[in-house]
Amino acid sequence: MHDHLIVATACNGQIRALAAVTTGLVEEARQRHDCWPTAAAVLGRSLTGGLLMGAILKQGQHLTLRVLGDGPCGTVIVDVDDSSNVKGYLQEPHVNLPATSAGKLDVGGAVGKGFLAISKDLGFGDPYVGQVPLQNGEIATDLAYYLAVSEQIPSAVGLGVLVNPDGSVKTAGGYMLQMLPGADSDVIEKLEKRLSEVPVPTELIQEVETAEEMLKRFFTAEELTILETREVHYRCNCSRERLQQILMSVSDDELQEMAVKQEPVEMICHFCRTAYLFQPEEITALRKAKQENRDSEE
Ligand code: ZN
Repeated sequence: MHDHLIVATACNGQIRALAAVTTGLVEEARQRHDCWPTAAAVLGRSLTGGLLMGAILKQGQHLTLRVLGDGPCGTVIVDVDDSSNVKGYLQEPHVNLPATSAGKLDVGGAVGKGFLAISKDLGFGDPYVGQVPLQNGEIATDLAYYLAVSEQIPSAVGLGVLVNPDGSVKTAGGYMLQMLPGADSDVIEKLEKRLSEVPVPTELIQEVETAEEMLKRFFTAEELTILETREVHYRCNCSRERLQQILMSVSDDELQEMAVKQEPVEMICHFCRTAYLFQPEEITALRKAKQENRDSEE
């Protein structure tokens, strides 16, 4: 089964229900970034949370999730586009902490204290940015808090990543249930009851094969209206040109220094770890082009 995400409503449109299975893309991210187990869970939960947050973006829109914690993983950045292509990275992938008392990967400990910031580029004007303090650094609770405070949407969020003994990702996925304005109190009560009965996310994602099955643990088939099922991918849109732009932005002195060394310069994309090599003559040409640009501006 490919990684996928479903967008649904439940209880006569009173709840927006989103769920995703992301095992493949989280494993791809783990390999690309060489994440150790706790870091794999931090990045995997953030990627899945980002996908769920970005599930209802319209064409041309995109969403960036930043987890700005003071824990050993450092900052985590996830970027999602309107077609559920996701990419992300964390500052320090080589993090593996002792398990929590519940036997779980210590995501909260690896993230630490700090802020969760979401910016939505809606395709016009400045991006909309919201920021809240991290509640426990476990990502799911932090996203639910963000939705409640910043968007006034009471939500239940569950995110899970399970790692095999060899460090590879066994399963990953999550759900996001949002109460839409005007939801009846009995619908809310019913959902709260089911939330208390459904196993914790890491167990839930092991028990189900698909995102639909995940939602059916909360709602009956009659209550659930599936609007869309789509594949989700780890995908980076970097290019040699884009990395060249970044290289162009370094100072003249640094470019000069690189050119003088007569060695190729390696630029690595943060999101996918693809390496782009720039030869000394290209560096010299870049420096010259930069100078000419400036001269023509004056
Ligand atoms: Zn890239």
